[in-house]
Amino acid sequence: MIVIMKLTATARDISNVIARVKMDGYEAHLSEGEAHTIIGLVGESPTPLREDHYSTMDGVDRVVRVSSPYKLASRNYHPNDTLVALNGSHAGSKQVLVIAGPCSVESREQTIEIAHAVKEAGATAMRGGAFKPRTSPYSFQGHGEKGLQWLAEAREQTGLPIVTEVMDPALVPMVCDYADVLQVGARNMQNFALLHAVGESQQTVLLKRGMANTMEDLLMSAEYILSHGNSRVMLCERGIRTFEKYTRNTFDVNAIPVLKARSHLPVIADPSHAVGYSEHVTAIALAAVAAGADGLIVEVHPCPAEAMSDGRQSLDYDGFRKMIDSVRLVAEAVGRTA
Ligand code: PEP
Ligand code: MN
Repeated sequence: MIVIMKLTATARDISNVIARVKMDGYEAHLSEGEAHTIIGLVGESPTPLREDHYSTMDGVDRVVRVSSPYKLASRNYHPNDTLVALNGSHAGSKQVLVIAGPCSVESREQTIEIAHAVKEAGATAMRGGAFKPRTSPYSFQGHGEKGLQWLAEAREQTGLPIVTEVMDPALVPMVCDYADVLQVGARNMQNFALLHAVGESQQTVLLKRGMANTMEDLLMSAEYILSHGNSRVMLCERGIRTFEKYTRNTFDVNAIPVLKARSHLPVIADPSHAVGYSEHVTAIALAAVAAGADGLIVEVHPCPAEAMSDGRQSLDYDGFRKMIDSVRLVAEAVGRTA
């Protein structure tokens, strides 16, 4: 249930509602919009919620039952788009953000070189994995903390914010020391201990949709993070598993307008993991932008054939520059910038 306060509600009216929520055994989450203050009631309590107990209180405009199992992630609770700050840019604004970099960071020199290259081509942030979730335990697992140090150095030199994956709740504080955005990967979307830890960290999170998860599952995972008071969450559509064999995954373009309609959180598209083949990445990126994506996360490597992971889907520098040129045209056509 959410309580929407009147424009004229006073601070005292708001604190009275919050006190009532607590008395009923629920948690009160405050969303201060441009027009209205909205109070979300979350949690479980033996006290059934009575709408009239709230609707008759001073300063209350109306009370709305939220039928979705997620509350804080719902657009009912927060009607305006949430803007997630990324170094002067905002995911969820008119600008389509472009996060680019290698699947894995491979060496210091290469990390720094890629950072300069993607920045020059127009990227807003850099991606790169230091902890890699690999299907096989025998595949390259990432360079760990050393990789994070290279990423931090790349940020120092270029000013690009860093997006990198964290897989272990115990490592969240360490990754926060180096990164601007914590990526929760598709395989960990329902790792609830990790969701708690990134929620508590209050660091910006890029939450990727699991390859066999529904949009509702994704929003429920976002709810875990939001319930810790961390509202800096970006959702990411990275393709789901279907019966199709000609692509790595199936890009669910539906997810972009549907998630944006149901939630106030920005939606980022990952065309690289979605399609899995570099020659098709730009087409999927353009479809995502046309469908309303707030940003793209794209794998870029100076020599994709030699990449330690995901080379087949990585764009080279030239391919990335061409992608950005096309993204700008489509962004403009749909009233955005890139
Ligand atoms: C990645 O970003 O390199 C990655 C492993 O992504 P996903 O979790 O979407 O597979
Ligand atoms: Mn990858």
